[in-house]
Amino acid sequence: MDKKYQLLHSVFGHHHFRANQEEAVNAILARKDIMMILPTGAGKSLCYQLPSLVMEGLTVVISPLLALMHDQITALSAFGIKAAMISSMQSPQEIQETMQACRKGELKLLYVAPERLKGESFLNFLQTLSLNFFVIDEAHCVSEWGHEFREDYRQLFRLKHYFPKTPIAAFTATATKLVEHDILHQLNLSHPLIIRAKVERDNLTIKADYRNGNGRDQLLSFLSAFKNESGIIYTLSRKETESLALFLNTHKILARAYHAGLSTEEKNETYHAFLNDEIEVVVATVAFGMGIDKSNIRFVAHMSLPKTIENYYQEIGRAGRDGLPSSTLLLFSTSDIVEHKRRIGEQPASEYQKVAYEKLDAIAKFATSQVCRHQQVATYFDDAILTCKTRCDNCVDGEKQSVDISHEALKLLSSVYRTGQRFGLQYVVDVLMGSTNEKIAQNGHQSLSVFGIGSDKTKAQWLSIGDRLMELDALKVGEYRVVSLSEYGAQIIKQRLHVSIHAKRLEERKKASKKAK
Ligand code: ADP
Repeated sequence: MDKKYQLLHSVFGHHHFRANQEEAVNAILARKDIMMILPTGAGKSLCYQLPSLVMEGLTVVISPLLALMHDQITALSAFGIKAAMISSMQSPQEIQETMQACRKGELKLLYVAPERLKGESFLNFLQTLSLNFFVIDEAHCVSEWGHEFREDYRQLFRLKHYFPKTPIAAFTATATKLVEHDILHQLNLSHPLIIRAKVERDNLTIKADYRNGNGRDQLLSFLSAFKNESGIIYTLSRKETESLALFLNTHKILARAYHAGLSTEEKNETYHAFLNDEIEVVVATVAFGMGIDKSNIRFVAHMSLPKTIENYYQEIGRAGRDGLPSSTLLLFSTSDIVEHKRRIGEQPASEYQKVAYEKLDAIAKFATSQVCRHQQVATYFDDAILTCKTRCDNCVDGEKQSVDISHEALKLLSSVYRTGQRFGLQYVVDVLMGSTNEKIAQNGHQSLSVFGIGSDKTKAQWLSIGDRLMELDALKVGEYRVVSLSEYGAQIIKQRLHVSIHAKRLEERKKASKKAK
């Protein structure tokens, strides 16, 4: 039998390769550079651990987190594979011992943090060893366009410089095409094999809803389906993790808080209690992140809008790693978007800031849109799929909660047309509402037939209707955010086509605009 099948069975205890794994293993064995984009839980580790056993020499794994390395090494020792790490938390003596073991060829895998590669001395040490290939875990950290850029990952361009003949295998769970290109470029991979799995996680049910107040009633009702099951609840602030954990305790749910302000012992204790099913729920900030290796997480809830779709998808991706049906709930409000914008605005103006705004815009659209949620995420990551039909709220109960806005759509589209398709949505809505702003007067638009015919709705409601028309591709957005009619938009006017919107999209905007007044 081929050695790789034998090892798959005898060492890892699996009967078959999962989708994409064998292709990756073969490429690594053929000493090719590879880049693999596979969702969390799909089994990326095996793709490099197995070839490492087949090949002569040492595999060096660059990993961003100590906890992650630690878990991997523990898992490998359980399989009887010799692996170790070198980290700043170890004593010089421990580091020396590990280096010695590398020299003697006693290890198969060596885990190191990216900052190790800053110093010449470590690179020189690696040059004295017989290396088979490098692994870069969480490779998206290399890209500023990604959502978890790490300065230390920048060092990794040096690998190809120092080791031009040693292949690199880069792994990540989430990367848009832009991030993918950036990773390839930053790491200088040569003719890599790119394996991009389908993005959709078909054992997850995705729901998103406007948050009522603090959202706790909605959360309890969501949790009622998961008695004694494991789950993660993400909140924005440390304080909120603690108060929500206490609140859940009063409802007889075993929950604990997890955030970066806790001591390492407290964090470890909570993580292990969760791993061992001693507690049901971890209420966490994003600090509870990478490297959570628990397969039976049945639900992930977000109490507010994450910063990006990448973050969101990675977080919900922690549910259902065992392949069993699992659920996710995103509760959000317009105020979350305002808060994120404020935080982004505090950063110095840069390309990075611009990307942050764009990413925020994308997740806000995701949350409020009526399009199949799985399809939206797949589209975002450049994958094309059909609507899920049964595994997201938009597909399941979208139509039920729709209201007819055919009349309003007609007004708005006509207003776009009458003002000459030369303005942004805000302006067009101002005309519709009969606003007395100077620009409208200058353009003579108060004499148009559409001027003031929309005063029965708030500005925010009209903007929601505009978003809906964009989502339906009835309105196109061009340079400087100028809106114009698409062919479909023109058809809606001519043939009086039916248009509907989720009732909540009008309600929430109404509330938000009242607050703003
Ligand atoms: P990732 O790194 O992609 O998030 P992991 O490598 O941690 O995922 O793997 C997730 C889980 O899938 C692990 O529990 C692992 O044992 C399991 N797994 C990996 N490959 C296989 C396989 N071929 N058959 C069955 N289970 C597998």
